[in-house]
Amino acid sequence: MKQQILIIGAGFGGVWSALSAARLLDKHDRNDVEITVLAPQAELRIRPRFYEPNVHNMKAPLNDLFDAVGVKFVQGSAEVIDEKNKQVGYTKVTGEQGQLSYDRLVLAAGSHLMRPPVEGLDHAFDVDTIESATRLEAHIHALKDVPTSAARNTVVVAGGGFTGIETATEMPARLRAVLGDNADIRVIVVDLAPQIAATLGDGIRPSIIEASEHLGIEWIVGTSVASIDAGGVTLASGQRIESSTVIWTVGFRASPLTEQVQGTRDRQGRLHVDQNLKVRGHADVYATGDVAYAATDELGNFAAMSCQHAICLGRHAGNNVAAELLGVEPIAYSQPKYVTCLDLGAWGAVFTEGWDRQVKLVKHEAKELKTQINSVWIYPPAADRAAALAAADPLIPVA
Ligand SMILES: Cc1cc2nc3c(=O)[nH]c(=O)nc-3n(C[C@H](O)[C@H](O)[C@H](O)COP(=O)(O)OP(=O)(O)OC[C@H]3O[C@@H](n4cnc5c(N)ncnc54)[C@H](O)[C@@H]3O)c2cc1C
Repeated sequence: MKQQILIIGAGFGGVWSALSAARLLDKHDRNDVEITVLAPQAELRIRPRFYEPNVHNMKAPLNDLFDAVGVKFVQGSAEVIDEKNKQVGYTKVTGEQGQLSYDRLVLAAGSHLMRPPVEGLDHAFDVDTIESATRLEAHIHALKDVPTSAARNTVVVAGGGFTGIETATEMPARLRAVLGDNADIRVIVVDLAPQIAATLGDGIRPSIIEASEHLGIEWIVGTSVASIDAGGVTLASGQRIESSTVIWTVGFRASPLTEQVQGTRDRQGRLHVDQNLKVRGHADVYATGDVAYAATDELGNFAAMSCQHAICLGRHAGNNVAAELLGVEPIAYSQPKYVTCLDLGAWGAVFTEGWDRQVKLVKHEAKELKTQINSVWIYPPAADRAAALAAADPLIPVA
C-alpha cells in the first residue's frame, strides 16, 4: 500500500507543498507515495489581489495542474485532526462526512481576518475572502443608485496596515468609476497607532504619506473604530463619521485547525516549527504558509503572513515531508531576503528591501513590479508536468 501525504489547504502553502513533494518523488523515480490535497475548492485563490476590482476573477484552477503532476484532489473542509489514528475527518460539499488517512500531514489551512467584539461589526465589509470582497464590490456598484449624501460618498477603512492601505488607496478610483469623476468622495483610514503606517516603518512612511495626499486620503490616527452602524462609525475619541461603506482590515489569525495540534503558538495562533517545517514535538505533522511560525534566518526574523513566505515555506514543507518518507536529506527552510511591494493606487507603489524596508523603487517603476507580481509571479505554473515540477524546487529564491 502506498504511503500517504495529506495536505490540508490549496492556498500558496498547500499548492507549493504538493508540487514540491511531487517533484521529489519524480526526482527519485518513486511511485509508492501518494499526495492528496484536501480543500474546499480546486482553485488557488489569489488573496493578495482581493482589494482590487473584479475580484471574482482572482483565482486559478488547479485540477489540470494536479493531474499533470499526479496529485490527488479531495474536495472538502477538514474538521478533525486525529493524530492518534493518523486520520483527518472532513465535510464534503454534499454535507456528508469523510475520513482520510495519512502517514504525514501538512497543515496549510491559511489564516483569516479577525472579527473582534466591536459593536455593529456586522455592518462592515472586508477583503479577506473572494465572497466577502465580492459583497463589497456589489455594494460599491449599488452606490450609484443611492441619492448623494456624505454617507454614500465616504468610505472608512478600519486599520492602516498593509491590507488597509492597499484597500484605501485603490478606493478613490473604484468610487469614481461608479459615482463619476466629480463626486465629492472621501476615503478615511482610521488607525490606533499614533502615526501613519506605524507598523510598516520609517523608510516606507514618506511614500505612503505622499500617495495619501495625492489621492486625497485622510488619516485619523491614535484612535480606533468603537462602533459601527448602518449610517457610519463612531470612533473611540467620540468622533462620528457618516459612511455607508466601512471596511474592516485589522488583524489576521491562523486557521482554527492549528488549535487541534498540540504545541507552542505565536500571538497569531501559528504553530512553532523546526527548520524542516515540522511542528515542534510532533513526529508526523508539518505546518506551512500562514499557519507556521518559522525562522527565516539566524538573525531572529520570522516569516510574515505573506504570499512570498507561503510560497517558499510550501516548497520546503512539501520537499521535506516527501524526503522523510523517501529517506533522503531534507532542505532546511531559509529565506533571508525579505521585500515589500505595497500598492498605492493611482499614485503607484513602493518597493522595499530588507526587514527595515529600505525603499528601492517608487511610483510608476514600483507599480510595474507590483503588477508583475500580482498578475504573473504569484499564479501557479501551467499544467505542464516538467515545468511545474521544475518550478517547485525549494532552492529557487522567491523574493
Ligand atoms: C487583501 C489581502 C492582501 C494581501 N496582500 C499581500 C501582499 O501584497 N503580499 C503578500 O505577500 N501577501 C499578501 N497577503 C497575504 C497572503 O495572501 C497570505 O499570506 C497567503 O495567502 C497565505 O497563504 P496560505 O496558503 O498560508 O493561506 P491561504 O492562501 O489563505 O490558503 C489557505 C487554503 O486553505 C484552505 N482551507 C482553509 N480551511 C480549510 C479546512 N478546514 N479544510 C481544508 N482546507 C481549508 C483554503 O480554502 C485555502 O485553499 C494579502 C492578504 C490579503 C487578505
